[in-house]
Amino acid sequence: MRSTSAHATYAPHTTGATHTSHTTGATPGRSSGHAAGHACIEQRIITSCTRDCPNSCGLVATVRDGRLVRLAGDPDHPLTRGKACVKAQRYVKRVYSPERITHPLLRDHRHQPWRRATWDEALDRIAARMAAIRDESGTEAILYYQGYGERTALKLLNRYFFNLFGGVTTLRGSLCGGTGQGSQNLDFGQRVSHDPLDHCNSNSLILWGRNPASTQISLVPILRDIRKRGGTVVLVDPVRNRSAPLADRHTAPRAGTDAFLAMAVTKLIVRAGGEDREFMERHAEGAAEYLRILDRYTVDDLCARCGVNVADAEFLADTMLRQRPTSILLGWGMHRHEAAHLSIRAVDALGAISGNIGVPGGGVSQGFEEYGPYDQQYWGDGLNPPRRTLLLPEIGREILDARDPEIRMIMVTAGNPACMAADAGAVARAFRKAEFVVYSGHFMDDTADLAHVFLPATTFLEEDDVMASYGHNYVGPVNRAIEPVDECRSEFMMFHDLAARFPFADRFRRGVDEWLHDLCAPVWAQGCTPERLRAGACRLDAPMAPYADRTFPTPSGKFRFMTDFDPAGLGAVEPGYPYRLLTIAPHGYICSERTMAGHDALTEVALATEEAARLGLSDGAVVRVESSVGAVKAILRTADGQRPDILVAERGGWNKAGHGLNLLTRALSSRVGCGTPYYETGVRVAPWPDDGVTGLRVLVVQPGNDAPGGSFCKELACCGAALTTLRTGREDALPPRDEALAGYDAMVVLGGHQHCRDDEGSPHFPHLMDLLRAFDAAGRPVAGICLGAQLLARAHGGRPWTKGAPEFGFVPLAPTEAGLTDPVLGPVLSGALPLPRLMSFHADTFDLPEGGALLVQGARCRNQCFRVGNASYGFRFHLEVDSSTVEGWVEMLRKGRMSEYAACREKFGGAYFDELARDMPLLVEASEAFCRKVAAAWLGLARRQVD
Ligand code: SF4
Repeated sequence: MRSTSAHATYAPHTTGATHTSHTTGATPGRSSGHAAGHACIEQRIITSCTRDCPNSCGLVATVRDGRLVRLAGDPDHPLTRGKACVKAQRYVKRVYSPERITHPLLRDHRHQPWRRATWDEALDRIAARMAAIRDESGTEAILYYQGYGERTALKLLNRYFFNLFGGVTTLRGSLCGGTGQGSQNLDFGQRVSHDPLDHCNSNSLILWGRNPASTQISLVPILRDIRKRGGTVVLVDPVRNRSAPLADRHTAPRAGTDAFLAMAVTKLIVRAGGEDREFMERHAEGAAEYLRILDRYTVDDLCARCGVNVADAEFLADTMLRQRPTSILLGWGMHRHEAAHLSIRAVDALGAISGNIGVPGGGVSQGFEEYGPYDQQYWGDGLNPPRRTLLLPEIGREILDARDPEIRMIMVTAGNPACMAADAGAVARAFRKAEFVVYSGHFMDDTADLAHVFLPATTFLEEDDVMASYGHNYVGPVNRAIEPVDECRSEFMMFHDLAARFPFADRFRRGVDEWLHDLCAPVWAQGCTPERLRAGACRLDAPMAPYADRTFPTPSGKFRFMTDFDPAGLGAVEPGYPYRLLTIAPHGYICSERTMAGHDALTEVALATEEAARLGLSDGAVVRVESSVGAVKAILRTADGQRPDILVAERGGWNKAGHGLNLLTRALSSRVGCGTPYYETGVRVAPWPDDGVTGLRVLVVQPGNDAPGGSFCKELACCGAALTTLRTGREDALPPRDEALAGYDAMVVLGGHQHCRDDEGSPHFPHLMDLLRAFDAAGRPVAGICLGAQLLARAHGGRPWTKGAPEFGFVPLAPTEAGLTDPVLGPVLSGALPLPRLMSFHADTFDLPEGGALLVQGARCRNQCFRVGNASYGFRFHLEVDSSTVEGWVEMLRKGRMSEYAACREKFGGAYFDELARDMPLLVEASEAFCRKVAAAWLGLARRQVD
């Protein structure tokens, strides 16, 4: 182990961060005590972020009375130094999300609803199916899909389990950095990056496709420090990402053509006599051939090919000449091209020719081996003859095409391939073809929807483990901060208990500490101890500046320049699809770590403002984005200053939430490193075709602040409707009748705590009811939800009244005969039998107005959904709720913050709310699916005639 204190030049410690002792308390890494003046017990636990992010931050988890309340950066982490991103704080909500699945679930067929199961039942079923499939078709009929969501030491044992079982089909290639790694291995012999703290020695730094503001927050103070010292930071990226304000200059090459820019800069450096001749002649091979490749082009030609001004290339060259050493940090986006190796190798060559290889503060750095520090025999790959692997970048087609044996069972851990893998449509088809799918995760996401068994996994805050990084040289402790939520189990425990059902049980049956003792043997060999690691991160024995002795693990011992350069197709535009789709890392999320409630109605795509104008599209337009693979609906955002040949969107949105950008991406493999060239997808953009619904104007009236439009309004927006929401509870005024009729095609009135007959307390109610009647009389659809339904009934003569006891919770409902034959809701109701339990929260109800037809009835409160007049529908139940709304209501009732519903609190105690919280993920899931169909059918009433 080495100390990092040698780099004393870097001292931008975050101020104001919580200080915590690493060593106090009975358990290393935990400090505890009674907070002064409080009866509660508060602990601060040192741990490490294990999410799919290069920073692997040191974190402090604050736990109060056993509940996680805060997650913040650990100021004592030697590298990340108290930095942690917005995603860390959000993770607390994720741990306790009402959508998180916290009990094992089973179903026999995908069209069936899930049912809760015990762990024994779930694991017995998996073990039985594995054994049956092995006996009938061989072990390779099982695919183990190990995702990148978490890459801790114990995750090695997942594959070990399958190897003990006999070896199953696994994956090869990568969705992420494989191309960069493969390419740098060609040049250096082995990809080894500069320690991030070595960038403190840089006088200039190039973020080549990297966006630390969103994906590597600990670099931000280093960048600021370089600039403060008079150095220069340049961002090279087709997209003006969030790190642009941290740079002195942003250069935006055409996507996938970075090789030409790197070559132009190299030529300029050579032209200025700034090349490192000694390195080229003594420590490298192929330099002369590479210079001959450069001779094929002029600087003007190279700049034209990558679409940048010569002045941009000159600025880069000048910076590298004047401000040595220059550190070049490669991002992950530039890997996402079929021939990305040409760009990466050209940048490596630039680093070499400019004299930055093996130099402190220099280097071309891409990443680190996150599984490198462990004893890799525990993958168990040597236990069997080599087994089949499928190409991850093309996994959908690979599964569909697999023969002898076909893939019959898939088990997925820490991944969401139905959302995140390229050509997600093919992935979904492939998973549907498999007869048995097991999914271990946290949420009912796109892949979980395709499974037969859902195993609820713990988060890293509920686990003990060890975490290395692909962004730096530290291994950090993963210390359990809280007990597992409900019945969640770590993947380690899942495989441990699954192994117990097979004859090789004894080979797996050991505790976490015992396993970590062996898995991390190479770490202990470097001087760290398990006790020390539990207390905080240890640095691996890796160089700060690799290749300082100018010897490389290549056959010749020299750096290798690229000697073949065939640029055919580099940056090519697919005929008919003029924009490269660049799906960049979101700022607020890691990949698909989202919830249904956390999605906007439609995904947003950004197009250059002038380009949008040329297409006749304005900001906010509903557009169709189409590739050769698929099409999605999206909201267009215009972006000033963006390149005209790209369409930019944040990746990770779920298909089931209407996002699903990987429904567009082509399944290809990069030519080096088996990476996934997502950015080889060309798209075209057009206004969403006139389907008679897109562009309908809907007036949404929200009387209560705590009852938003939820899934109902989200679905209307997904259908392309333009919603105007008036919060009358916050004094928004309703428009006059004529103005409303002129301005809107349909009207929705949501819920609220008011009594519908209390005109004194809500003086706008008479006018609101007048609008409800006017819209109906004009044949414009009206929907009233809860309070809105009461107002609708009252507007048409129905008598409102207060029930003896309030109703709160998801209640069973049944359609009436009139409901099943209703022209609008009939198809939805008959297609959803038995109806899902739907949320009720009310004390008031109503008699049906004259002429009204009851469509859905309940046992305790009969009038649940009705039709009245020409086009008006009232929903007594809250079909619109999403998980955050219900969670908010439960919290309000628990804390007695809703005095209007005090009776609810008296009637429903803590046990009732606990039960509701436990069942909420599936209840909300079913309710939302039902709601979306109802909303779309209702909006169809307003459909315009389309030629
Ligand atoms: S997501 Fe990344 S930046 Fe954020 S806390 Fe985790 S490791 Fe740090």
